[in-house]
Amino acid sequence: MVPLFSKTVPSPSYLSYTVQDSYRHKGLRKRLVDSLRTRGITDEKVLSALAMVPRHLFLEKAFEEHAYDDKAFPIGSEQTISQPYTVAYQTVLLDVQPTDRILEIGTGSGYQAAVLAAMGARVYTIERQEPLYIKSRELLRNLGFNKIRCFFGDGTQGLADFAPYDKIIVTAGAPVVPNALRMQLQIGGYLIIPVGEEIQYMYRYTRLSETEFKEECFDAFRFVPFLEGVEKKR
Ligand code: SAH
Repeated sequence: MVPLFSKTVPSPSYLSYTVQDSYRHKGLRKRLVDSLRTRGITDEKVLSALAMVPRHLFLEKAFEEHAYDDKAFPIGSEQTISQPYTVAYQTVLLDVQPTDRILEIGTGSGYQAAVLAAMGARVYTIERQEPLYIKSRELLRNLGFNKIRCFFGDGTQGLADFAPYDKIIVTAGAPVVPNALRMQLQIGGYLIIPVGEEIQYMYRYTRLSETEFKEECFDAFRFVPFLEGVEKKR
């Protein structure tokens, strides 16, 4: 496991973040991890990453008390931070290796990206809501996540500049699987994407060759929608 916080000194406005991970928070986090284990998440590498990342720092202050409940919460711009169970579930399917370069579509709060980085991966994450992009980029930088690069843009096009990726994860519910994402996968790579309108089924595509993909379907979830275009800060 890589050290979570780098040695860089955070900027004064965020100084408080690094000192706000108390024993109480750690205890609540451990309890959350235990409850995920009883819900069937058995991958210890994923569970240790969830035990490491201070989820309460990725939520609005008003929800801090509930940061370690297994629930989704509003993060502004009508979006939510995914439920820990969902984050764990997608991360298990990704089978993260420390050498992986991973593209995440839907930065949101930055929490999922932080979990991937805590497992040693290099993460490229893209968000279409400018206020969330700005806020999460700041937070991740100030928490010392220097293996995460944040981008503002429409993830339906992927992020061609840094392709191909070992893994791609979509954290919004997609009506269809964008071809651009499949094309930006390394051969042997995985794309994890929730597909559907009202509810979504979790799909994993494995790129077998230039033109062939294996498709696997898993459980049902409910995500915020995967939308085209971008929303600028108002
Ligand atoms: N991974 C996030 C989950 C946030 S919810 C977290 O850990 O908090 C999903 C996010 O996907 C929302 O912030 C939404 O704005 C974003 N999103 C939806 N469609 C998108 C698109 N086409 N490109 C980039 N981001 C998108």
